[in-house]
Amino acid sequence: MSIPESESELILEIKYCLQNNIPYKMLGNGSNLLISDDGVDGFVINNKKACVDLFVHNDLLYCGSSVMMQQLINYCINNEFYAMEYLYSVPATVGGAVVQNAGRGKQYNKQISDYIVKVKVFDGEKIREIPKRKCRFGFRDSVFKENRDLVVLGVCFALPMQSEEIGVNAKKERMKLVRKYQDSGCANFGTVFSTANHHIMKLLRGVKIGNAGYSKKTPNWICNYGDAKAKDIVKLIKVSKLLHKFLFRSVKAEVETW
Ligand SMILES: Cc1cc2nc3c(=O)[nH]c(=O)nc-3n(C[C@H](O)[C@H](O)[C@H](O)COP(=O)(O)OP(=O)(O)OC[C@H]3O[C@@H](n4cnc5c(N)ncnc54)[C@H](O)[C@@H]3O)c2cc1C
Repeated sequence: MSIPESESELILEIKYCLQNNIPYKMLGNGSNLLISDDGVDGFVINNKKACVDLFVHNDLLYCGSSVMMQQLINYCINNEFYAMEYLYSVPATVGGAVVQNAGRGKQYNKQISDYIVKVKVFDGEKIREIPKRKCRFGFRDSVFKENRDLVVLGVCFALPMQSEEIGVNAKKERMKLVRKYQDSGCANFGTVFSTANHHIMKLLRGVKIGNAGYSKKTPNWICNYGDAKAKDIVKLIKVSKLLHKFLFRSVKAEVETW
């Protein structure tokens, strides 16, 4: 694994991989990944340091893909922009959040793409900007999930103004809600399935295989209660998929398996 220190270093590494037919994977903060017990196939490029710009220019906010969501949100609050405070609990890089179109549950219809104007990418040959309408944002979906050749370098937002006080309070409210409903007592990768049947997921609460199990507190979450193996988590996911199939319900994994 490498950790490029700048955007140009990141691009050089990707070019090197492409020229030498070395398969590579981009790692954000790893918060949506289930990584095999046998390790990862290919070269991993960790994007935690390369793209850290964060500034306002001509009323647009530019944020590099390595910036953590919490840093972006605090910056927005301090500069009196609407800050997408509902994403404060998401332990993601902005790049990972854009790829995943991170947001709140379906019923709230709030996602990071709401105020995106354009996304800056490296497409394997050159740096270019993709306007929002071409990013094909959907529920936990984007063109960047389909097209792995597009590496997100940064994103431009057009955010409405909002007083600092409203931002601070919204962030506090969000974290209060998270403490009440989200299982903080275990390592996890957030929601397992982006589409799933509520009743089936409720039924699975507390079901364990090895040291992994569906959270008793938060439906649709899998907890690592110690040294859980990825293969046990894969089995738990399969159990749910089988139940959905058996009961003719649709299911789609949100977590990505490497
Ligand atoms: C406690 C917890 C709470 C969570 N809450 C939420 C929530 O409320 N809402 C929500 O939507 N999700 C939530 N998640 C899931 C997760 O945080 C999001 O999916 C997040 O967007 C992943 O970002 P990441 O930086 O960790 O990306 P990673 O998990 O590292 O990567 C995810 C995917 O993005 C790709 N990728 C990462 N960076 C780039 C880049 N710069 N260019 C191209 N591809 C890239 C990776 O290759 C991978 O395919 C939660 C997870 C946890 C653990």
